[in-house]
Amino acid sequence: MTDAAIVGTGPNGLAAAVTLARAGLSVSLFEKADTIGGGLRTAPLFDRDVQHDICSAVHPMAAASAFFRAFDLAARGVQLLQPDLPYAHPLPGGRAAAAWRSMARTAEHLGADGPRWTRLMGPLADRSRAIVDLLLSDQRSLPRDLTAPLLLLPRLLTHATSRSPFATEEAAALLAGVAAHAVGKLPSLASSAVAMLLAHTAHSTGWPLPEGGSARIADALAADITAHGGVFHTGHHVRDLAELGDIPLVLLDVSPKEFLAIGGHRLPTRYQRALHRFRYGPGAAKADFLVSGPVPWTNPLVGRAGTVHLGGTRADIIRQENATVAGERIDDPFVLVVDPAVTDPSRAAGGKRPIWAYAHVPNGDTRDPTDLIRRRIEAYAPGFTDTIVDSRGLSAAQYELYNPNYVGGDIASGAMTLRQSLARPSVRRDPYSTPLNGVYLCSSSTPPGPSVHGMCGYLAARTALKRHHGLDVPDLAPTRKELHR
Ligand SMILES: Cc1cc2nc3c(=O)[nH]c(=O)nc-3n(C[C@H](O)[C@H](O)[C@H](O)COP(=O)(O)OP(=O)(O)OC[C@H]3O[C@@H](n4cnc5c(N)ncnc54)[C@H](O)[C@@H]3O)c2cc1C
Repeated sequence: MTDAAIVGTGPNGLAAAVTLARAGLSVSLFEKADTIGGGLRTAPLFDRDVQHDICSAVHPMAAASAFFRAFDLAARGVQLLQPDLPYAHPLPGGRAAAAWRSMARTAEHLGADGPRWTRLMGPLADRSRAIVDLLLSDQRSLPRDLTAPLLLLPRLLTHATSRSPFATEEAAALLAGVAAHAVGKLPSLASSAVAMLLAHTAHSTGWPLPEGGSARIADALAADITAHGGVFHTGHHVRDLAELGDIPLVLLDVSPKEFLAIGGHRLPTRYQRALHRFRYGPGAAKADFLVSGPVPWTNPLVGRAGTVHLGGTRADIIRQENATVAGERIDDPFVLVVDPAVTDPSRAAGGKRPIWAYAHVPNGDTRDPTDLIRRRIEAYAPGFTDTIVDSRGLSAAQYELYNPNYVGGDIASGAMTLRQSLARPSVRRDPYSTPLNGVYLCSSSTPPGPSVHGMCGYLAARTALKRHHGLDVPDLAPTRKELHR
């Protein structure tokens, strides 16, 4: 007898399964693709010795979230490698802004805006755990520590206005590049919250890359699930909830669109309508390159960064993001670039290395982004094109075919507006429960939203355990015995 089924094995499905299996439930996981992991897959695309991250690459939230703190990736052999310089932002004319892990070094680099950066980020970094726990919560519970909302509120309001509080183009662009991770309207309260969350962690828990690629995180979660009796069924696209028979507990790591497809006919009309109203944001279109050397950035500082933001000035980024939200195809979209071998030299082999890059594009865009992204990188790194050995593009539309959770290529599985940051996927006291008894949503379409933090899965499993078994969440840390298995 199976106690619980998990549909989808992204980080949230896996986090839910870890939590339920460690509480003693027998768990079966169903995954559409032939491999587990959702947004945590790493594979050789061109050369069998060079691994590419297909979706996520950099993991500030896996380094910080309450789920992963408890699960303890490091104790399980996953090395989170920290770049000294988490992110950089090249600007026209060979200038560049950079955020170091060290606040003092960042402040020194930012010159006139250094003290402003320190006043903004310093208090957040000092209370990092409280800030992370507030923003990565179910968005329903009252925070235990009131310092976090008190620190955040004035910062969110100041940065949600069109006037930058910074004097220099460098500092303004540096923060706007982080706000653009919200893939939504700029400036706004929602993007400002994303900026504060991500930017301060650069100075606290860091923006690490797992040694060997993102799949190492999924492997560690899967090993724990298997060790606690969990069973994986890959290559199994659940097309109707009826396929799961009478399994009493079902946790769905799927988007509201997929929930409607596999169980919509069982749902009350009102809830169906709410799921239909859920809005998806702009898409991501990605290019993977196999290159023969490091990216020849004009400004060498950029070559030391874990993540590079290509968007130009703050005003440029605001224009790009708002046009993309409005569905316009522009020639200079916001692009994120990662050269994983900068942080993890094991990612380069035989003189070749992977380059991971994606652009923000309108939802459902069918363009192959390879050339667009190549040109964006070339503008700040002349000669990049000559290093390309092979490449492949995935349009926003293709991302949905790859993973139904990324509707129209929306890798956040739901627009990150203020309303949808809270009402994810609908206005309910318990955002994970559904009108179907025993059926819960646990994907990033629930709070706290996108990124690899495992919190949606963990919080949904916590609710399900309490309601159906009267159990609290189990200890997630590996025991000494487990570590020596
Ligand atoms: C290009 C790209 C870059 C990204 N970069 C980063 C990054 O650097 N850092 C970061 O933290 N986050 C990043 N993200 C976002 C991150 O990957 C997601 O937020 C995260 O994976 C969401 O986790 P999830 O478990 O909710 O869903 P997913 O990871 O999307 O997993 C859902 C899984 O469910 C399966 N599934 C869906 N429906 C069914 C069904 N009916 N039957 C069976 N299986 C089903 C899917 O195949 C998939 O495997 C990126 C995403 C993309 C696409």
